[in-house]
Amino acid sequence: MIIGIDGPAGAGKSTIAKLIAKELGFSCLDTGAMYRSIAWKALQEGVALDDVDALGKIAVENEIEFTFDDDADRAQHVFIGGQEVTTVIRTPEVDKAVSPVSAAPSVREALLVQQRRIGSKGNYVVEGRDICTTVFPNAEVKVFLTASAEERARRRMAQNEARGMTDETFEEILADIIRRDEADSTRAVSPLRQAEDATLVDSSDMTIEEVVKTICDLARQA
Ligand code: C5P
Repeated sequence: MIIGIDGPAGAGKSTIAKLIAKELGFSCLDTGAMYRSIAWKALQEGVALDDVDALGKIAVENEIEFTFDDDADRAQHVFIGGQEVTTVIRTPEVDKAVSPVSAAPSVREALLVQQRRIGSKGNYVVEGRDICTTVFPNAEVKVFLTASAEERARRRMAQNEARGMTDETFEEILADIIRRDEADSTRAVSPLRQAEDATLVDSSDMTIEEVVKTICDLARQA
């Protein structure tokens, strides 16, 4: 079974996906981490962010892999071309580079192949922007998870603080979220949008437990 969760930056997709996976015994696929890994490698190699051929080449030539700690927390580790990038893909530099990288059709095409290959291996909670519209249009459960921009910025700030990343102010985080919402929703290829048959979950005034229960109930009904 595939549970697809799409939504804008900071909607809580990763936190929710992880808890649902734990509850139902599913694996998680964080497709945002895949786009971030390509953006990080492009920055490392000095590839121009509008050079779609070079960006596509990175995505074709480098496999992205995930491992999970073997304890109750199941923390995710991300690798591109065998190199661990778990923390370096969460910097403000990558936040800024990832929108142009993810708008490149060559990158999306290559990652789509990798995402379908991973997701076909069992029961997955897959989170991203185009999971229910493009990557897994036949997902058994489809959710569009959102929250107000201010609430999302507040949560991202708390998450950054928990990771010891305190360089960005609330205003900077909010501006980045608004900029990425705009870029992700207006790009030509696979823009962020709610699939027609997806259930809208606005988590602005919901607890994490309420959101998890809502989506687990949908999965049990499916
Ligand atoms: O979810 P996260 O914020 O880590 O995603 C980073 C970026 O990756 C998004 O802003 C978007 O540009 C891109 N992305 C995408 N399609 C997906 C997942 C993420 O374009 N399925």
